[in-house]
Amino acid sequence: ERINLSKFTDKVVSEIQLALRQKINFDIQTDLFVSMDKMALYKIIIIFLENAGKYSPSNSEITINITLENHQVDFQVADEGIGVPEEEKDNIFERFYRIDKSRSSEIPGTGLGLAIAKEYAQLNDAKVFVSNNSPKGSTFHLLMESIEN
Ligand code: ATP
Repeated sequence: ERINLSKFTDKVVSEIQLALRQKINFDIQTDLFVSMDKMALYKIIIIFLENAGKYSPSNSEITINITLENHQVDFQVADEGIGVPEEEKDNIFERFYRIDKSRSSEIPGTGLGLAIAKEYAQLNDAKVFVSNNSPKGSTFHLLMESIEN
């Protein structure tokens, strides 16, 4: 269905902020519409934000950005955490995959979150991928087709 992405993100952020140690920065007020299943979009955003919270220190910040290019909306969750090594960037979207045990052993998880996010994205003709954040950490992207208001 048709979703106002900025408004929807605002709601998700205010809901999850209490559960995270890091401050989430988000202040985009431009109305941008996408066609997604609401539950799928909600899940993907939550998975990105929970991971950002899990894999970055408590005194750091999480930043959400939304950009529009050629009718493509790029929804980004950037953190200042441990980052994802180049050679693991595809693997982490596989089921039960977690980057080396020593690295994530103190952080609980099943390795399913990102595989679910990928599945939900594909069902909605959207894409997920990760890039580096600068100077440190990672940026998780959700690419969706924009729809005209
Ligand atoms: P769960 O799905 O139960 O939260 P998980 O976090 O291990 O478990 P995924 O969300 O699928 O599973 O993530 C897979 C792996 O990708 C993680 O184990 C972690 O190594 C890496 N990863 C995910 N998000 C980040 C991030 N924001 N920064 C650094 N590494 C990350």
